[in-house]
Amino acid sequence: MIRIAVISGKGGTGKTMVTAALSRLLSGSLVLADCDVDAANLELVQSPRLLRTDPFMGMKSAVIDPAACVQCGECEAHCRFGAVDRDDDKYRVNPLRCEGCAVCTAVCPAGAVTMQPRQTGEIKYSETARGHLVHARLVSGAGNSGLLVHAVKKTALERDGQCDLFLIDGPPGTGCPLISTISGVDAVLVVTEPSVSGLHDLKRVVAVCRQFRPRVLVAVNRWDLDPSQMEKIEAWCRDENISLIGRIPFDPAVIDAVRAGVPVTETGASPAAQAIRTLAVTIEQELSNPDRPK
Ligand code: SF4
Ligand code: SF4
Repeated sequence: MIRIAVISGKGGTGKTMVTAALSRLLSGSLVLADCDVDAANLELVQSPRLLRTDPFMGMKSAVIDPAACVQCGECEAHCRFGAVDRDDDKYRVNPLRCEGCAVCTAVCPAGAVTMQPRQTGEIKYSETARGHLVHARLVSGAGNSGLLVHAVKKTALERDGQCDLFLIDGPPGTGCPLISTISGVDAVLVVTEPSVSGLHDLKRVVAVCRQFRPRVLVAVNRWDLDPSQMEKIEAWCRDENISLIGRIPFDPAVIDAVRAGVPVTETGASPAAQAIRTLAVTIEQELSNPDRPK
């Protein structure tokens, strides 16, 4: 199985649109995972049929037993996250603020606090026109994105590990969800855009990826909106020995495709669709050549 993550240094680069189109173009059997768990929207262009939903239990949080509590206030005094509230002399933990550090269990003189598992999201398993899709929903404010990304990947590999290809729609940024996404993948495709911030974020995300040693490939979306910034991205990729393998032009057909809920490559031979078809062929060539630079 080859594992590819499509990522971006920031949101709004067209990463999900590219992932959806690639899912229809890359050859072999395929399982899809939407690891952008804070804003999962791959399903919007895949029309999935939901097969099952499983609860996601995030980290444990503290729970106070009011019958055992002697109202000493030690837990409130020692919680550095302000997660213990007092209401009418009753102490209780706000699960949205609890960071699971368990300090309150150590300081409670009455043994009234226990750490309990809490459902912070759900993992969905669906069928699409091109294979199974694992996607998720995180309870707002839960803050377990990295753990949920790990659970989404694990679910995909356990249920569809026999597929030829594991295609991941990754999160934007360089934080914990990204690290969880790219660990163990063979290649990352960074989708960026021709702007000052696009190049800046590209540099940051590539620096993180290099710690995990997947092959790094780059595609620039809407490249023709700023040719001078495009030249800077090309020069930087050349200097860093990174394969810039895709140039997708600005194309109103992309917006029409998103509105219709399908990948742009399903709507005809628009310029963006043609560029992504070429990108898919190049990805397969890159991944079949083990001697290319990482
Ligand atoms: S587990 Fe930590 S963060 Fe949560 S209530 Fe107890 S002390 Fe506060
Ligand atoms: S430390 Fe224990 S006994 Fe004291 S207020 Fe908190 S829960 Fe109640």
